Amino acid sequence: MGPQAEYFDLLGKGQFRIQRCDDCTAAVFYPRTHCPNCGGPLGWFAPEGSGVVYSATTVRRKPEAGGDYNVALVDLSEGVRLMTQIVGCDPGEVRIGMPVRFSGVGPAGDTVLYRPEDQQ
Ligand SMILES: [Zn+2]
Repeated sequence: MGPQAEYFDLLGKGQFRIQRCDDCTAAVFYPRTHCPNCGGPLGWFAPEGSGVVYSATTVRRKPEAGGDYNVALVDLSEGVRLMTQIVGCDPGEVRIGMPVRFSGVGPAGDTVLYRPEDQQ
């Protein structure tokens, strides 16, 4: 199984994992076979959970289709950036620079969810 397929396999089991280089310890995302910095081997780990919104967009949907939702790029404390959905607040309230915390994997098993840091 390639690293991308492995990532989605883990996500489908509710496990959000990114990679770290065994040699230079750099965190790596998106999933790859070798470290982009030094070519070293990579292993999976669970991110610590905090991040900051880098950019955010509201995707408009009709209410009967589930209503508007947010798509954001989040910079994790590990130093990697990934596309997520911010939940727990109105999509239009998501701001660049907002501290967020990992909230789980979406019901379809293919989306990583974060919520504002000050939300329970
Ligand atoms: Zn490396």
